[in-house]
Amino acid sequence: MSHRPLLFLDVDGPLNPFRAKAQRRPDGYTTHRLRPHGWEDTPRPLRVWLRPDHGERLLALPYTLVWATTWEHDANTMIGPVLGLPELPVVELPHWSTAAEGLCFKTTTLVEYADGRPFAWVDDMITDRDVALVRRRHPGAALLHRVDPRLGLLDADFRRLGEWPSARPAGALPEDA
Ligand SMILES: [Mg+2]
Repeated sequence: MSHRPLLFLDVDGPLNPFRAKAQRRPDGYTTHRLRPHGWEDTPRPLRVWLRPDHGERLLALPYTLVWATTWEHDANTMIGPVLGLPELPVVELPHWSTAAEGLCFKTTTLVEYADGRPFAWVDDMITDRDVALVRRRHPGAALLHRVDPRLGLLDADFRRLGEWPSARPAGALPEDA
């Protein structure tokens, strides 16, 4: 079994900068019109911006990649192939409406999935309360790394993720707060 930390990977925000202001796609991204689960019957598919080179950069990081996104298994069929990612494990998440006040709906499920293993989590929805909850409930090291959904993953994010496993602090650290 791998001793690499897990990297919980969100799609909308880090990989798809869906809040980018311009109506045209951000530089380096390609436009995809997708129908994930729940979007089969909508008049228009979902517009998703992706950077094909993100796959290679993610695979080069010293982690075991795990999808942690509302795309769930659709991430493996619709997002991963665009980025050149192999099939990855998927965390099955509770409905977003189940979140406690001020917490991301994913947090407790990710802590349970990690089961004490060190992990980094890349998401646009991380709050200080999520950081506090992980500190309380997760005995291993954790990096909660918030990404701006207007920008997606940037060089600085890849640098931080690349450095963290070898300079791992105790407990969780908020990023970009
Ligand atoms: Mg997101």
